[in-house]
Amino acid sequence: MKYVIKNVNLYQGKIDSHIIEHSNVYFENDIIVRIDTGETIEDGYEVIDGTDKYLLPGLINLHAHLFGSGKPSKILGSQSKLQQFVIKAAATNNGVKILDKLMQKNMRDALYSGVTTVRGVGDFFYRDVILRDKIKKGEAYGPDLIVSGPAITVPGGHGDQTFAMSASAKDELEHCVELNHQHDVDLIKICITGGVMDAKVKGEPGEVKMSLEQARWICDAAHAKGYMVASHSESEKGVEIAVDAKVDTIEHGAMFSDEIARKCKQQNTAFICTLSPALPLAKFSPKQTKLSDLCAYNAKIVVENMIDGIRKALSCYIPVGLGTDASCPYVMQYNMWREVCYFAKYLNVSNSFALYTATLQNAIILKMEDKIGSIEVGKHADMFMIANDPLKDLRALSKVEMVIAKGRIYRDCHIKKDIKLEKELDTLI
Ligand SMILES: [Zn+2]
Repeated sequence: MKYVIKNVNLYQGKIDSHIIEHSNVYFENDIIVRIDTGETIEDGYEVIDGTDKYLLPGLINLHAHLFGSGKPSKILGSQSKLQQFVIKAAATNNGVKILDKLMQKNMRDALYSGVTTVRGVGDFFYRDVILRDKIKKGEAYGPDLIVSGPAITVPGGHGDQTFAMSASAKDELEHCVELNHQHDVDLIKICITGGVMDAKVKGEPGEVKMSLEQARWICDAAHAKGYMVASHSESEKGVEIAVDAKVDTIEHGAMFSDEIARKCKQQNTAFICTLSPALPLAKFSPKQTKLSDLCAYNAKIVVENMIDGIRKALSCYIPVGLGTDASCPYVMQYNMWREVCYFAKYLNVSNSFALYTATLQNAIILKMEDKIGSIEVGKHADMFMIANDPLKDLRALSKVEMVIAKGRIYRDCHIKKDIKLEKELDTLI
């Protein structure tokens, strides 16, 4: 298992990276062992010709749910009888088998789209943990998974009765952390505010559902066990509670004060930008999205809040990472590249900074930058190859020719995409 990718245009993923032409990248098993330029190739390596191609570090998706394909569906809307029926059916033996198959397919699609690490932040019945281990053992294709199991929410909060378990009292919330710990999760996910998909009234996505006290109980219990905590927070108050409870990553985000900015820097809190779900819901008509007017209204608020918050975080040099919130309507598992495009366009950052954010910056937020996030000697061989220069046009990321994940090579990365949905989404880039 000794390979060299020869004569390739290399983008390493560091903040000041540019394209290095005529690069040769050597890897043995799952580790990159040497990088040089020129025509001479060391003996003993199987050669992969990279002439005229571009080699990049695998993308990291910091916010996904593994269960859904991302195709718009009424089931995903506000808690309906149909939704509860589907969740009940999924809990049966046969249901779990179907769910496992769907999740496997979803993660294979993610892998084939150049994503080599996914952080799952809320899934059903710990099937995310099971799939993580299957992929680790080589029993399924997929990115490296870092998973939370079910999120923790409060009664009536975001995710209650779907991808989260709910509780109110201190001992109950601590028990939720303990339960996830017993199931061998990698992080703890909490929901401080409401969400777009399950909101019942205008403005609810930003409404605080979990108190500071409750968030603190969970964070303290989680941190004591060595877990990072990610918090769904879609309003200024929701961000404030998250920061005061000392969560590690604020998912989605909103505007915040200078005082909160100071605390973020002190505690090393990061913001995770997820424009992929809210943008289409805000910009497409409810007829097109099959969701309610209420959903569209709330999505507009969330998008504006998120852009304000992420812009402020960037201006204060608070770490900002990227995730898609895959499984939400219009957020297909293979479209992490779109989040990179949205980030460049709507936050007005350079293509190179957007790409750095989706790779090395995301790895830094995971505290895994010694292993992943860039193409450097000693790091994991997690890379993908494309035909065109992504620094000139980020849409080049969508045409994947080869993926290498932990040194394993995937040459046929065909994904069956929904062409109609892809065309609709192209209008947002
Ligand atoms: Zn989410």
